[in-house]
Amino acid sequence: MQEIVIVVGAGTMGAGIACVAARAGYIVELIEPDAEARERGRARIERDAERGGDAASLLARIRWSDAIPERSEASIAIEAVPERLELKRRVFEALARAVAPRALLATNTSSLAVGEIAAGIAGGDRIVGLHFFNPPVAMKLIEIVETAETSDDALAAAHAFVGRLGKTAVVTADTPGFIVNRVARPFYLQAMRALERGVASVDELDALARGAGFRMGPFELMDLIGLDVNLATSESVYERLGAERLAPQAMQRALVAEGRLGRKSGRGFYDYANGAPERLDLVPTDVPAEKIEECITVIGFGAAADLLADELEARYTDVRRVENDELLDEIAPETTIAIDVGNGIVDRTEILAQLDTLLAPEAIVFTDAYVTDLGAASRRMKHPERLVGFGVLGSLESQRVIEVVDFERSSDDALAVAQELFEALGKGVVLVEDVPGLFLGRVVGSIVNEAVIAVQENVATPDDIDLAMRLGVNYPIGPLAWGREIGGARITTILRRVASDDGEAFAPHRALWVLDTEQESESGELDIVMEHPVL
Ligand code: NAD
Repeated sequence: MQEIVIVVGAGTMGAGIACVAARAGYIVELIEPDAEARERGRARIERDAERGGDAASLLARIRWSDAIPERSEASIAIEAVPERLELKRRVFEALARAVAPRALLATNTSSLAVGEIAAGIAGGDRIVGLHFFNPPVAMKLIEIVETAETSDDALAAAHAFVGRLGKTAVVTADTPGFIVNRVARPFYLQAMRALERGVASVDELDALARGAGFRMGPFELMDLIGLDVNLATSESVYERLGAERLAPQAMQRALVAEGRLGRKSGRGFYDYANGAPERLDLVPTDVPAEKIEECITVIGFGAAADLLADELEARYTDVRRVENDELLDEIAPETTIAIDVGNGIVDRTEILAQLDTLLAPEAIVFTDAYVTDLGAASRRMKHPERLVGFGVLGSLESQRVIEVVDFERSSDDALAVAQELFEALGKGVVLVEDVPGLFLGRVVGSIVNEAVIAVQENVATPDDIDLAMRLGVNYPIGPLAWGREIGGARITTILRRVASDDGEAFAPHRALWVLDTEQESESGELDIVMEHPVL
């Protein structure tokens, strides 16, 4: 006998879920009381089925109905009705009466607590969340939400169902935003904070995000999702979690109040009056083949300095290294550009002051602006106009656009040299204001931090968090893997600087250090952290 799945609600999500289940061979009882919604749902399913080339067999497996039946042989029931607690509870009560006691009951809620929907429903241990992503036909990920009551059998049934649909499951605790909607919040919120601080323009910030590997920048993505929908998710996660670092932004509320909702209203962060605006593409297309004459010295140790020196060697005639601060006074006097990478963690003010005395006055000095306070460093220099701050967050290889600080004391010449140098390496450049964390340090650092906090709060395993963010929102790499690549200590330094400016709510979680260390610790404090190693 073929297995039956009940899907309640044939809206955006229900119609998609029905299509996916029918395609996997289930008989689907699709329940939709609203005649118009039924027609829209039918049209949507037909369209999806035709695209998949299995329309006839798929449509034959879907049985429409306008109410939950008294009795059903279904082994799984999923509700996808509007996001209202009382409505969902009523639907669950009816489903619990209709299906066998062992059948799995699931809700597709995005923002309500599954445990609250399930409270008092007969057989609450067979209730889970099955959080599909929009559109269900295309999105690979399903978050299985486990409540305090969920039985192992129900969890196993949920896994088996997701597997049969050909989707990938992650398991999440019943906490606000589950994995994806929570860990993704800083992408939007920190981007808006950066915009508010005037770090750069909307299209430049989006270009920086794409250059770091995100498929879309935060602003074009919010415009696509709908600013109102995105704001509602932020508000719901914030209200339920109460964490100040995830507070919704006044800027977004104002845009929503004005009716600037994004693409669907013709205007959001961008204007769509003449169609989608062209994306800013800063990555140079042709890099000249001949080497450029310049004597460049890279100061620093570790993989970041090695990689930078290698890339520079391919493009410049004379590239040297100073791999140890102790050897700084051996720097070649003919150096025209000194690039200080340091260890990516410790402020370089002292070293920059020394370099200033060792180099010819016209030599330019680059430093890592994520960790060094350019204002303080420049005050120690006789030639502050030669100082340029830049940011390569993790690996130079994976960052196609570099932020260069439009620092008030940097000369135009120094900024032009920085632009030329990064373009010679095939990178785009965005000039950004001197705000702690710049843009990518603040945004990516805060995402990694949120993922680490989620691990500490038992939301999910590190592997599931990374998988969820790759499949649910197309991140180029999971946030914990990204954190390991950048380094927990480096992110800690960056977020410390952000917190010194934006407030303690934005401080790094102490468990970020765990990204860098496999050491077992004897100390009480670290032991708490090590209960949930993120490695
Ligand atoms: P929707 O408004 O498109 O669809 C809801 C459907 O449920 C409508 O067709 C409505 O007529 C029907 N309905 C209302 N009362 C009903 C009842 N008593 N019995 C049966 N059907 C009833 O909404 P949606 O976007 O599909 O969202 C549904 C659920 O999925 C919500 O919980 C939402 O939070 C969640 N969700 C939505 C998205 C998304 O991107 N839209 C993503 C993930 C999860």
